[in-house]
Amino acid sequence: MKIFDFQAEFDSGTFKKDAGLNESATAQANENFVYESKGCSRVRTTEMLTWNPITGCTKVSAGCENCPSEVMAKRYQTMGHKRYGNGFNLTMHDEAFRDRQDFEGRHISNSCSPSDWFNENVPYEFLDKIMDSINSYSDLRYQIITKRAERMAEYFATRPIPKNAWLGVAIENQDVKGRIDVLREINAPVRLLSLVPLLEDLGNLDLNGIDWVIVGGESGNKARPMNPQWVMNIQKQCAEQKIPFFFEQWGAWGEDGIKRSTKLNGKKLNGKIYQEMPYWY
Ligand code: SF4
Repeated sequence: MKIFDFQAEFDSGTFKKDAGLNESATAQANENFVYESKGCSRVRTTEMLTWNPITGCTKVSAGCENCPSEVMAKRYQTMGHKRYGNGFNLTMHDEAFRDRQDFEGRHISNSCSPSDWFNENVPYEFLDKIMDSINSYSDLRYQIITKRAERMAEYFATRPIPKNAWLGVAIENQDVKGRIDVLREINAPVRLLSLVPLLEDLGNLDLNGIDWVIVGGESGNKARPMNPQWVMNIQKQCAEQKIPFFFEQWGAWGEDGIKRSTKLNGKKLNGKIYQEMPYWY
């Protein structure tokens, strides 16, 4: 697997930040660039298309405390959005299998952001429909990120994994590092870690069998700060083990420990943008 490094590509002039094109748009313009995202943790890596056959969720660990999907669901419910009549209550949407034609031929897509597909209350039969659909769009890549690693492993133990599904687990603190071991046992085309929101130093990580690591801080009024040392610790381990490292954003608390807008805090770590990713074909 090759590593794609945005910063190096920009520096070398392979990609230009043309007027009106941000990094995400530039990435989308590159046909060889296969990328899509989100899951139960927010991964703002590109301007992503979304496909949401499930909305709503239930909280499972500390990373869920300020779940951005809950905030979004409640806002959409207030606005009368047809998909969010149930607010943040888990809801499966059969109509989602009929309205995906827009994605046809596109290289960018994403999986479920408003929910965790492996929530205990999502029947396997509904997951089967989702996987059938993913299989039928073989030119798209889907990132499926969960905090329910065991249920994902249990599900795929008896079913084939779509070749275009990248599977990941969300980890926010030391208590849930065991999710990595579960993911490692799943024979996915790409295994990724979403360390978002990072809530404490994760210490040493066993990254054997892991293809991609994404790190980011929390956004929103109640966001918890992320210490730069925690991030550097992960970046260092990824560099040593040659695993693509993607620093998504600081979130509400900047690298300097000051709270301000997520946009102003940006995504530079020690003055550099880290946006490596697996280059997979
Ligand atoms: S598992 Fe993900 S979507 Fe579900 S409550 Fe937690 S953060 Fe939100």
